[in-house]
Amino acid sequence: MTSLTPTRIDFTALRQALHRAPELSGAEVKTAALIADLLRGWGYQVTERVGGHGVVGTLTKGASPRSIGLRADIDALPIAEATGLPFASQTPGVMHACGHDGHTAILLAAAERLAQEPFDGTLTLIFQPAEEIGAGAKAMIADGLFTRFPIDVIYGLHSWPGLPEGHWGILPGPVMAGVDKIDLTVRGKGGHGAAPHETVDPIVAISHAIAALQSVVARNIDPQEAAVVTVGSIHGGEASNVIPETVEAKLTLRHFSTQTRDVLEARVPALLRGVIAGFGAEADFTYQRGFPPVLNHAEPAKRALAAARAMGQPLIEGFRPRTASEDFAFYLAERPGAFLILGAGEGAPLHSPRFAFNDALIAPAAALWTRLALDHLKDTP
Ligand SMILES: [Zn+2]
Ligand SMILES: [Zn+2]
Repeated sequence: MTSLTPTRIDFTALRQALHRAPELSGAEVKTAALIADLLRGWGYQVTERVGGHGVVGTLTKGASPRSIGLRADIDALPIAEATGLPFASQTPGVMHACGHDGHTAILLAAAERLAQEPFDGTLTLIFQPAEEIGAGAKAMIADGLFTRFPIDVIYGLHSWPGLPEGHWGILPGPVMAGVDKIDLTVRGKGGHGAAPHETVDPIVAISHAIAALQSVVARNIDPQEAAVVTVGSIHGGEASNVIPETVEAKLTLRHFSTQTRDVLEARVPALLRGVIAGFGAEADFTYQRGFPPVLNHAEPAKRALAAARAMGQPLIEGFRPRTASEDFAFYLAERPGAFLILGAGEGAPLHSPRFAFNDALIAPAAALWTRLALDHLKDTP
């Protein structure tokens, strides 16, 4: 990466260099340093260590107070890469399996281009760490992202395997789900598997509770709304002839509106407690609110749609919100903005050890960022 010169960069090579050297959430030291160096080389004012290893680059031209923020996430995942690509991760057990290397390359390509364009106002580029652990956006906001840097409106994007390549999914309103989680411990009374009547079996109790949970989405959530209740982990017991004392489970709950979240937050714990108590066991759990849903604001979503159309970039027909989640949601609670989904074509899904970012997306996505920024910063107030 040291051979990079400040101009005439091959952003595919840059993306692949980032891919080779992934860094986990909260440890994006070299990635942040590379971004900061490039931005400085193009004339941006650069602030490092914003909310951890976050980097903010600003560029002001003209006298207009207008501003726009564009955000890329920069962190990788604790996954052992299995793509066999020549530029595969050289850090064992760490991989850019969510395409954040691509998002970073896209925003850098737009940064280089925008530095050469005339505009009137301030461009604020946000390189966010720690998205995968849900900490980065909150940390950057707490560190003054919106008070230290001018951001009237904010945009972000995510590439998406399984959606048509180079086609955009742009919606007003919900675009990605909110997520909460529950860590559950069911406490019974252990004993001999041959004498169940002398025990309180936590395995039987949790089995009934899991079956009962399926009724929350079916019977408590408005049929016009979407929600997910998934038990993704369950552990208890060691031997066939021992009834364990406890069983542990982890749940993910997803929603697209506060009303739905309130129903999940009320009904799921109540059902768990009630069913488990019915078997004489106890349910200890923590309910953790995670990300809110990503709720796009109408006007910015409209501008992004118009920009894509004006550039002849195709839209995904019948695009519907994703049930994954994104901490970009926290930015949209502070400022108007929109989060855009970019189809990546066929390929392994996000977070798969075989996921491969589609480099063909870099040029059109950077062009859309550029267009959107220039649209926002062209008018005089
Ligand atoms: Zn991810
Ligand atoms: Zn991601």
